[in-house]
Amino acid sequence: MAGKSAAVKPMGGGKKPSERPQKLCPVCGRPFAWRKKWERDWDTVIYCSDRCRAQGRNP
Ligand SMILES: [Zn+2]
Repeated sequence: MAGKSAAVKPMGGGKKPSERPQKLCPVCGRPFAWRKKWERDWDTVIYCSDRCRAQGRNP
């Protein structure tokens, strides 16, 4: 395995915290940044936390 790797890097990997993608939580209205635990499903993350997710599902 030599040469350049075509492997896709995880979103936010190797970037500065300020350069990581952000989203706006619809429950608390606050922006939240990419987290390591979301690297696999950042596209589907809507809420900033489990707490907000529970409120979003049960208004
Ligand atoms: Zn929130």
